[in-house]
Amino acid sequence: FSPLLSFLLLSLQTLMLGRQKRGPVITDDDIAQSRRRNAVPCTSRGCTWSKGSNGNVVIPVFISNSYFIIRSLLTFHRTTCIRFVWWRGQSDYIYFFPGSGCWSYLGRQGGLQLISLNRFGCVYLPIVQHEVLHALGFHHEHVRSDRDDYVRIIFRNIQEGQLTVNTNNLNTPYDYNSVMHYSTYAFSISPGELQTITARNSNVEFGQATEMSRKDIRRVNRLYQCSEFKIKTKLSEHLADITCNL
Ligand SMILES: [Zn+2]
Repeated sequence: FSPLLSFLLLSLQTLMLGRQKRGPVITDDDIAQSRRRNAVPCTSRGCTWSKGSNGNVVIPVFISNSYFIIRSLLTFHRTTCIRFVWWRGQSDYIYFFPGSGCWSYLGRQGGLQLISLNRFGCVYLPIVQHEVLHALGFHHEHVRSDRDDYVRIIFRNIQEGQLTVNTNNLNTPYDYNSVMHYSTYAFSISPGELQTITARNSNVEFGQATEMSRKDIRRVNRLYQCSEFKIKTKLSEHLADITCNL
């Protein structure tokens, strides 16, 4: 891009962001509510991202400026058929920006869609992966339709209600290690003291994920039918992606 074209594109982005200045309504802690769709599962009604003829799901991104976010996105390249590319005017794309807090929309919205990653507290691998998984169409693990078999929700200790959502679990078992699972004091009226989520099997620890679990990865690959993706194992190949692909 020429500097002038880049400047014009940036001005356009700023204008579009300005229209959303007041920000979306956030529910479930970090899920922005779409005006166009708000129900779950959205994946059955076309909120997934489309697949290219080579079997990869190409998602254009605009990242204001963070090498760390790019590195985090590349973890999807290693384990799934999701491929993030720099936005070049495609109609549907994700715009990463440092808004207030960490939040994302659920599934592809159509057009520009935001993921907010505040500089303070959001730019960590599990959080970037978590918000991207929302944009790919995944809800929280602890709101899964079968969660009551695995965890107890202690509603009296919760600031706001937690609902069970009719999720598409993609035939994967409940996953305490999911990067989409909150910890035992989530939304607590007294964090560190009053628990809000406890495991039915008390030996299990959860909400401590430092990266996507194997089941998180398996779900992405099932939802996007990534059977033919090639796993890249060498870091040098990922770094090559940054210059070639992103
Ligand atoms: Zn979330």
